Amino acid sequence: MLKDIHLEALKSIVGNENVYSDKAHLIAYSYDATRTRYEPEAVVFPRDENDISAILKYCNEHQVIITPRGAGSGFTGGALPANGGIILGMEKHMNRILEIDMENMVAVVQPGVINKDLQRAVEELGLFYPPDPASEEYSTLGGNVSENAGGMRAAKYGITKDYVMALRVVLPNGDIIRAGKRTIKDVAGYNIAGILIASEGTLGVLSEITLKLLPKPKFAKSYMGVFPTVEDAMNAVFKSLAAGANPVAMEFLDSLVVQALKEKLGIELPADAGALLIGDVDGNVAQEVEFQLEILEQSFIANGATGFRIADEKKDRDGLWYARRNASQSITIFGSKKLNEDISVPRSKLPVALEKIYAIGAKYGFKVPCFGHAGDGNIHVNVMVDGKDAKQLIDGHHAIEEIFQMVVDLGGTLSGEHGIGLSKAQFMNIAFNESERALFSAVKKAFDPNNILNPNKMGL
Ligand SMILES: Cc1cc2nc3c(=O)[nH]c(=O)nc-3n(C[C@H](O)[C@H](O)[C@H](O)COP(=O)(O)OP(=O)(O)OC[C@H]3O[C@@H](n4cnc5c(N)ncnc54)[C@H](O)[C@@H]3O)c2cc1C
Repeated sequence: MLKDIHLEALKSIVGNENVYSDKAHLIAYSYDATRTRYEPEAVVFPRDENDISAILKYCNEHQVIITPRGAGSGFTGGALPANGGIILGMEKHMNRILEIDMENMVAVVQPGVINKDLQRAVEELGLFYPPDPASEEYSTLGGNVSENAGGMRAAKYGITKDYVMALRVVLPNGDIIRAGKRTIKDVAGYNIAGILIASEGTLGVLSEITLKLLPKPKFAKSYMGVFPTVEDAMNAVFKSLAAGANPVAMEFLDSLVVQALKEKLGIELPADAGALLIGDVDGNVAQEVEFQLEILEQSFIANGATGFRIADEKKDRDGLWYARRNASQSITIFGSKKLNEDISVPRSKLPVALEKIYAIGAKYGFKVPCFGHAGDGNIHVNVMVDGKDAKQLIDGHHAIEEIFQMVVDLGGTLSGEHGIGLSKAQFMNIAFNESERALFSAVKKAFDPNNILNPNKMGL
């Protein structure tokens, strides 16, 4: 429970109606998508940037810990108040699209704007904001920038960082800074925005975000390649891209996921498929779309595909994407708890990475259904265990550790898009040496010398 003196101080900044310490609020803000629970001592909703500044200044002076929070959809515990203190919630007031600048193709938003709300708003004007995490209907742009979220369209359009032009940020001492500009080019000074992207709320609180927009492509179709083995599919991924294919998305489902989609949701997919690649192609002229489909079909067949289907009707396309979007929830047929990681490797290493992942799973006796953004080299690896079996949980964590070590040895990373937060903090020493970790700590100290902002996340 936060001391009364702090509660009163916070109320004097944002008003009584924006500070909560009742049990219902503390429980409601104790979760994120990891389903781990840590109750905060209070939940505070700033009304604007000045409120954020005043709150941070007060908390910094009085050593009150702050956890910034968007929608709480993070998969690694970044928004969990693991050390108590206050939740700084962005969704209540800081949720306005401030400007859509058609001439410069730029949007300026507050951090609590939901990703899909921005997509819809700009699409009405013929523009396009590509990053589309599967959580797009509820995750916030502040959370997306803080995790550097990816999405289904990353193969062609990149990830959140590719769209961040500028940030306004409140530092832990209450100072407000700008990082970046509304210009295509900006090489003056250090790239502070680059440091803040994916910093998981550990360095500053984002109060305003300026994002690049694109023209909306006019034509699109979907495709599905059917492969006898995962190895064939993974070879097709990097070879088709190296051959000049430029799909919007190239998503992978392995045979366990295909089985789960059929058994749990009754989705009809090729029963004998060892692996599927599903995706979209788009363009501003119809021929561009046809050209892309041709390259994909040729490359897929050359790499062992036994089938290549094109979907152009909305119903057909939605059907393919329905399968992909439900992959995560369907695989619970293999175990009550999934230890899910989102490793990323250079694309040419995908065949060997997948082979080793399944071998590690087999060594411990676990099913490891895999799916994800193969076109980006980013795979969601799910070690399925019985959540009530202590031995399986321990073995599952050993399996994850082996997978991480193998991925790093292949030149890959612990996380392609979900971040480190709490759940992967213990693995940071696999991926970074002592000097690199010391540099991270020095950056943290430069921004947050009193360690009040989301402490102990990212292994810091
Ligand atoms: C079903 C499902 C599907 C998902 N699919 C994807 C996917 O396809 N791709 C992907 O990348 N992720 C995905 N995610 C993960 C998650 O949605 C993303 O990480 C998202 O960016 C988190 O946004 P959020 O608003 O929920 O942030 P939160 O979970 O609330 O916070 C995430 C981090 O950002 C910090 N933060 C939030 N707002 C601010 C701010 N204003 N200033 C500073 N720090 C802040 C928090 O402290 C925390 O560390 C998925 C999650 C779910 C549940």
